[in-house]
Amino acid sequence: MSELKPVALWFRDDLRLADQPAVHAAAATGAPVFAFYILDETSGQRALGGASRWWLHNSLAALKQDLAKRGCDLHLFRGDARELAPAIVESVDARAIFWTRRYGAHDIAFDTQIKAHLKEKGVDVHSSNGQLLLEPWQVKSKTGDPYRVFTPYWRAAREGMAVPPHLSAPKKLPAPGKLNTAPWSKKNLAATGLDNLQLLPHHPDWAGGLREKWTPGEAGAQKRLAHFIDQALKDYATGRDFADRQSTSLLSAHLRFGEISPRQIWRAMQHALESGAIDPRNGDKFLAEVGWREFSYHLLFYNPDLAIKNFNQRFDAFSWPHENKAHLLAWQRGLTGYPIVDAGMRELWQTGYMHNRVRMIAASFLIKHLMIDWRTGEKWFWDTLCDADPANNAASWQWVAGSGADASPYFRIFNPIIQGEKFDPVGNYVRKYVPELKKLDSKFIHKPWMAPAETLRAAGVTLGNSYPHSVVDHGAARERALAAFASMK
Ligand SMILES: Cc1cc2nc3c(=O)[nH]c(=O)nc-3n(C[C@H](O)[C@H](O)[C@H](O)COP(=O)(O)OP(=O)(O)OC[C@H]3O[C@@H](n4cnc5c(N)ncnc54)[C@H](O)[C@@H]3O)c2cc1C
Repeated sequence: MSELKPVALWFRDDLRLADQPAVHAAAATGAPVFAFYILDETSGQRALGGASRWWLHNSLAALKQDLAKRGCDLHLFRGDARELAPAIVESVDARAIFWTRRYGAHDIAFDTQIKAHLKEKGVDVHSSNGQLLLEPWQVKSKTGDPYRVFTPYWRAAREGMAVPPHLSAPKKLPAPGKLNTAPWSKKNLAATGLDNLQLLPHHPDWAGGLREKWTPGEAGAQKRLAHFIDQALKDYATGRDFADRQSTSLLSAHLRFGEISPRQIWRAMQHALESGAIDPRNGDKFLAEVGWREFSYHLLFYNPDLAIKNFNQRFDAFSWPHENKAHLLAWQRGLTGYPIVDAGMRELWQTGYMHNRVRMIAASFLIKHLMIDWRTGEKWFWDTLCDADPANNAASWQWVAGSGADASPYFRIFNPIIQGEKFDPVGNYVRKYVPELKKLDSKFIHKPWMAPAETLRAAGVTLGNSYPHSVVDHGAARERALAAFASMK
């Protein structure tokens, strides 16, 4: 019997097999599946940052293995997706293609163009939602306008939520049998090995801390979720703000790369709530944070330039002072002299992650104490976070700056000393990432310059030598920021 014509399965930010509508639909055709991924760095798409590239490499490796167990290969390509995707489909003679929808303007434009091209050639194009609980256009206010404020958005989203049943990963996903000769090579399409995508850092290999902390891939994501529900969720509502506790899920990068779906998280949470295993306060608070992710995608969809343009245009009138390069460098390296900020920035550098509360403090410090444009901070996070996300990162930076939707007001200026004392009360978080302050008395750990000379000496701290003097004085910086932002009124 002759083999059915294959179907193509294009993986993007959806690197999993379970609860993955595109995978499920491709498998349901019963046809052989040609699975592929394209690393597109040539067509004006925003290039991934270093930490995300590291994550992507490992996530693709995990997916390749998971597919291989089911009889399928993951073919890797590099180049302009607008040219490559149709050419791949044509060269393997696929009759249909399956993919997960994306919500950035660039991505939507690409997908629309590719879809039109393929349809013209008689290829069926099937897209589905595998990334969000609800797609941006499914949550509409009474006036039909997009939401600008989280609480009514989330209320409406929850009311309209009908999470479909779980889709199991296919047990088998047979690859086309006749592809030994790599037909795409006739079209000068170079399929490549994972190492040739050059996603990992070399000279120097700075990823040791990332390897230690993370297990990218679907299995790693499921393990994190189970561990979180079992161990950390019971303290989530209050504990999530404390930098010295592990009370959050650490699922952000897994979600970013689609190794787990928000629907899986939603169902797991409903199950735990219904069985009485968790306190509804913790479950609801956690789901609301997943809701912020949904809200950020809602914002991105309706404001495609979220990473570069002020959401609140009133902020366009604000002219940022000349960027102080020394201050920026001190912030990036965790050498500002404010221990909670420095600990956060070093956690980021070492692990590709930063605790949410500390992200807010560190971002506020850059924007308001150092008066550096939020876009500069957004770019640094984009390069250094494993979870760097086109919607969450941009929306969060704008939220801190005060220019975003439902944002923290511009006159709210985090005091890094009080924030440190409140959310890292004995300084364990600072001690972990700023070891030169390890022996300092908890009373001074968030304000070493207030410590008596004897205390500093006993702790082995020499300000200006083993640990820097603060780059700006908090009180003076606060006054400067308030005056500058007030001029915008
Ligand atoms: C300046 C700044 C930049 C940020 N950049 C990113 C980013 O690039 N990518 C990213 O995923 N998150 C970003 N966040 C949001 C938040 O800090 C992280 O999602 C969170 O710390 C991830 O840890 P977790 O998975 O343990 O979170 P949990 O508390 O366990 O939350 C569960 C999930 O909800 C989502 N979530 C939680 N908080 C937020 C939020 N405020 N906005 C949107 N989604 C949220 C994430 O997907 C997260 O994994 C940023 C926050 C700030 C203040």
